[in-house]
Amino acid sequence: MSTSPSTSAPQPHSPGLGSLTSAQGLAQGLAQAPLRVGVLALQGDFQAHAAMLESCGAQVLEVRDWHSLGELDGLLIPGGESTTMSRLCDRYELWQPLQRAVGDGLPLFGTCAGMILMARGIAGGTRNFEQKSLFALDIDVARNAYGRQLDSFEADLEMPALPAAGLGSQPLRALFIRAPRLERVGPEVQVLAAHRGEPVAVRAGARFAAAFHPELAGDDRLHRLWLAAIAERKALGQPKAPGEPLGKAPLGKAPAQPAAARERA
Ligand code: GLN
Repeated sequence: MSTSPSTSAPQPHSPGLGSLTSAQGLAQGLAQAPLRVGVLALQGDFQAHAAMLESCGAQVLEVRDWHSLGELDGLLIPGGESTTMSRLCDRYELWQPLQRAVGDGLPLFGTCAGMILMARGIAGGTRNFEQKSLFALDIDVARNAYGRQLDSFEADLEMPALPAAGLGSQPLRALFIRAPRLERVGPEVQVLAAHRGEPVAVRAGARFAAAFHPELAGDDRLHRLWLAAIAERKALGQPKAPGEPLGKAPLGKAPAQPAAARERA
């Protein structure tokens, strides 16, 4: 598994990334046609994400029911508590529509608990509760693997994709709060940042996931990079991103879990 951030920002399926991911290109693009992005607003830190995305120029919708899922250019799933969030998705009859949207290729950004909900394999489940996943990204994660709330920490992360997109070369400040560990990163998934040799932020096309809370340190560059990826995908006529076929698992049927994740769960 590659644990160092890749320096080759543009991916083979992403011609033209350079112009659209530049901060200036994104600002111009958003001024012409703002992206309409949803923030799953059932639990967790959705307000800070919504404010940050709005300040980046996106139109933001707080998503609490399946009606709001239509016409979205992307959906951010915030940090919080992944089992609670998936239970609430069930209660609000959102889980199956979300699975469908994932199968249709909806761009996603999952942070912390949101990353857990996007993963393919999840270790560290809650007793008497089967941890649910949207199978939106080819990664395996382990919940709470960095320790308890008291073991939360901050770190400055090198993220070569930011300067490559004209978003500045200073490291990204990241807050890890009962964070999940990325235990496997699939071959189509690009590592954006690592901490102590372990991947902590990844992307596949316009699907991003981070083990930390990027919305809490006042640095919106990862949000901008995600918006630029969505804008680019739109401009290219919404091609499927690598990893998206995972979302096409028939409803209610998960792809076979990797053996390692099964054993740990
Ligand atoms: N520990 C939480 C979970 O397992 C995630 C923590 C967070 O989102 N800050 O869902």
